[in-house]
Amino acid sequence: MIFRDHCTTVQGCCKLDDFDFFANNNTRVGSDEAERKSNMSTSTKLPLILSERSHQTRDLAISFLMQQGVENPQCLSLAAGLVDPQTLPVQDALQAASQVLSTEESGRSALQYGTTQGSLGLRSELLNHFASLEGVEAKDLGIDKHQLIATTGSQQLLSLVSEVLFDPGDICLVAGPTYFVFAGNLTGVGARSVTIPVDDYGMQPEALNAALEQIDSMQELHRVKMIYVVSYYDNPSGVCVATERRQQIVEIAQKWSRDHRILVLEDAAYRELQYDGEVHPSLWSFDKSRDHVIYTQTFSKTFSPGIRVGFGVLPEDLVTPICDRKGNEDFGSSNFNQHLIAETLKSGRYTQHLQNVREGYRQKRDSMLAAAKKYFEDLPGVSWISPHGGLYVWMSLPEEIATGFDSPLFKEAVANKVMYVPGELCYAGPVENRPKHQMRLSYGVLTPEKITEAMKRLAVSVKNVMAN
Ligand code: PMP
Repeated sequence: MIFRDHCTTVQGCCKLDDFDFFANNNTRVGSDEAERKSNMSTSTKLPLILSERSHQTRDLAISFLMQQGVENPQCLSLAAGLVDPQTLPVQDALQAASQVLSTEESGRSALQYGTTQGSLGLRSELLNHFASLEGVEAKDLGIDKHQLIATTGSQQLLSLVSEVLFDPGDICLVAGPTYFVFAGNLTGVGARSVTIPVDDYGMQPEALNAALEQIDSMQELHRVKMIYVVSYYDNPSGVCVATERRQQIVEIAQKWSRDHRILVLEDAAYRELQYDGEVHPSLWSFDKSRDHVIYTQTFSKTFSPGIRVGFGVLPEDLVTPICDRKGNEDFGSSNFNQHLIAETLKSGRYTQHLQNVREGYRQKRDSMLAAAKKYFEDLPGVSWISPHGGLYVWMSLPEEIATGFDSPLFKEAVANKVMYVPGELCYAGPVENRPKHQMRLSYGVLTPEKITEAMKRLAVSVKNVMAN
């Protein structure tokens, strides 16, 4: 109760309409969830009283999309953000597991509990791996293994950061559109999101600066904790942040850090899924102080999401709070799986596998872009972003064509057996303020031929809606 009162007060004095108060209750899927939770307590059983935080936790809209896919087996899904099953490295994982279990000693060490921060062997490999991505020797990174933490996917780091950094009412600046699961993490801890527009070069620094100016003028700067950036081939927009903007975003965070540090959370989940284009340095590399940027990456997209290993590089004074929180949650990520990834990195099989994965996705990306050109180019007001990496194409339709679950287009697409993620799910902030005419199209799962067919079906659906 105190929490709600507190938020109402803060909302009352803020005029920024992007602030995200209980936005989960506004989404269709979120409302269903709220209804389900309240129905649960009207049965003959005594009511179950869930925490405030539980009520704020967003149901993942993607579950709804998955369900649609299952109910319509003929449906071609451009919605699923899964990796291509053909890329999953069964033989590499088998070899790594055999190696880890090859002696009693190494086997036992992997099958025992590990440490909260992660296995030393993995963290040494990660340090070298990260250094090679940064183009320097590990000793020149300006950090040590102590600042590296192994997590259960990078999602765990996103969640831990939200929990450790944000009190209800604190503010995070995010791109519009942004990674919707992290938007849910923010809502779940009662944080407010302020949406910063993006263009083909990523989050716009001028808009970021202007938002901070406005927040400052409302005496709210002390509530700003973080700027969240998916820096490479964003989920959902596919955009890669331009090099000069990377530097500018870090400088803006530093400039507005007056009484406390405003951090940047660099989510580099797709960094290694680059198919062509310029190689960009990380935002992290522009933070010479090593104090302002939290960096996170994952092996989910490049190796196996089932192994669930990701990592974070943390400012020194964030290590203990994050590890303490993680310790309370899980005592450490799967020790065995960390050994698998360490062994895969050490053996060189990761690098080999990555080359094949990139080549496969590059072809799929090309199929989607070719199909977009073929089937959508002549449709008035339709545009899309051509990504140089990652798994997604972001498509915009004329503003009057809504793409949401309740829209004629979504129904038409389901009838034509094709599925996409409605763009409005990929924004933070109140539903009514979100653009309604965009779609996230994923080329991760389908074969190139099926991608082409799915795009054809989608174009037919759009044309049918345009004709009515
Ligand atoms: N960040 C982004 C931008 C993502 O798209 C994802 C996965 N969809 C994650 C983080 C989390 O991935 P994982 O937990 O599998 O590492």
